[in-house]
Amino acid sequence: MSSVTQSPEIDGVAVDELQTSFRGDLVRPGDAGYDEHRKIWNGSIDRRPALIARCTGVADVQAAIRFARSQDLLAAVRGGGHSFPGLSVCDDGMVIDLAPMKGVQVDPETRIARVQAGVLLGELDLETQAFGLAVPSGIVTHTGVAGLTLGGGIGWVMRKYGLSIDQLRSVEVVTADGDLVRASENENADLFWGVRGGGGNFGIVTGFEFRLNPVGPDVMAGPVFWAMEDAPEVLRFYRDWIADCPDELMTIAVQRRAPALPIVPPDLVGKLVIGVTACYAGPVEDGERALRPLKEFGSPVLDFCRPKPFLEHQKTFDPSFPHGWHYYVRSCDVAALSDEVIDIVVEHGRRITSPVTSIALWQMGGAVGRIDDEATAFNGRNAGFTFNINGNSKTAEGFDAERRWARDYWTALAPHHTSVYVNFLMEEGEGRVRQAYGAAKYEKLKTLKRKYDPTNFFSLNQNIKPG
Ligand SMILES: Cc1cc2nc3c(=O)[nH]c(=O)nc-3n(C[C@H](O)[C@H](O)[C@H](O)COP(=O)(O)OP(=O)(O)OC[C@H]3O[C@@H](n4cnc5c(N)ncnc54)[C@H](O)[C@@H]3O)c2cc1C
Repeated sequence: MSSVTQSPEIDGVAVDELQTSFRGDLVRPGDAGYDEHRKIWNGSIDRRPALIARCTGVADVQAAIRFARSQDLLAAVRGGGHSFPGLSVCDDGMVIDLAPMKGVQVDPETRIARVQAGVLLGELDLETQAFGLAVPSGIVTHTGVAGLTLGGGIGWVMRKYGLSIDQLRSVEVVTADGDLVRASENENADLFWGVRGGGGNFGIVTGFEFRLNPVGPDVMAGPVFWAMEDAPEVLRFYRDWIADCPDELMTIAVQRRAPALPIVPPDLVGKLVIGVTACYAGPVEDGERALRPLKEFGSPVLDFCRPKPFLEHQKTFDPSFPHGWHYYVRSCDVAALSDEVIDIVVEHGRRITSPVTSIALWQMGGAVGRIDDEATAFNGRNAGFTFNINGNSKTAEGFDAERRWARDYWTALAPHHTSVYVNFLMEEGEGRVRQAYGAAKYEKLKTLKRKYDPTNFFSLNQNIKPG
């Protein structure tokens, strides 16, 4: 991103006045750090807000909301900045940036963690793993806890402990009026239901309180790869092998070109591969036993599945999704890996050209599917698998072709689509948001939106319109 001289307009006197009671930095076009703070993870998004309010705590968030309303500014809310479609930054309006809110407090006795809104997954893991504990979260350490949790939160230990929201005890929320409210099963229970899957539609969550569970610190985990030619046999074996696997085992099948990483032999780099990355959230010896069939299947070209610290395993996918590349995703859930679905996966995997394009096929089920579907706004607990089809390029060059590939892959799967995970949506319109929640939950969320945000102040999200 490069600076341009033209700046979006905003009332400078009002901003100076705001600064007198605002602890964090207020960053405007032309200020040092403006380009740094308007950047988000997806390098294909280049937007120029009129003001970035870098909040340090609840009072700053309240002030930022009241200011945006008084100035009639469009407001984007930023946690970890990993929104695929870039909804955490806007042109001309205001970014309410929660990144400076980095507090994590772990109580190993009660097994509870209190987490502020700017914390990233790796930062949370670092604190909880000091006690051999974890919150179920996602698979890339630089993702934000806030956005991920508010959409549901799927990751390596979800089949054992559920989604991130399933271990959420309470939240502190600043509403569109600037009021701070607490929500839990016993307090503002309707709001607590809504924030567990309903995203940023109802307010800014400044604090999360999670239950912790034992994980690691060592786990049996990592990827096993085969040549893409072997994909039909690998996928059929994979389907049968995981059919009745324990909740401790979570896997993600991957298709891509082998990346240029130190663990990849040079003669494999750039070749089309299919892999299964696993994590066994239980004793390492049990994990070794459970994963033996995977490691012994066919002729792997790379096997990096071994005992390792959970913290190390959590970083497995980090090098594949660095900040600043151009990212596009299409996603859907499917009920099962039928032969038809496998044929589509095989065919479209072979067509991958970009060295940074990939798919992740998530095994769902386990504890996620056993929790009462009505308990939270999250939909899709019955999904068999979730597809994350990533058409990526390092720069704008070639990005269109990657997007086309991702759309073609997704379209071919259309007859098998069931639901879609809201955090894996691009800006795809109201119909897709409705599909993500299902008709009944969508209507319930609309009612809640009318109660907590009737003017749709929080509109830059997978938006549930109050009207
Ligand atoms: C590289 C990568 C890996 C991912 N891996 C996973 C994964 O393993 N599991 C998974 O479940 N998802 C995953 N996702 C999807 C991820 O959950 C969403 O992109 C999520 O929105 C990211 O949260 P964030 O705070 O980083 O994003 P941001 O871009 O900061 O926020 C996204 C949206 O969340 C809302 N929001 C953020 N913070 C708050 C807050 N404090 N209060 C209210 N609303 C808020 C806003 O509407 C905002 O537009 C991944 C995404 C990326 C890019």
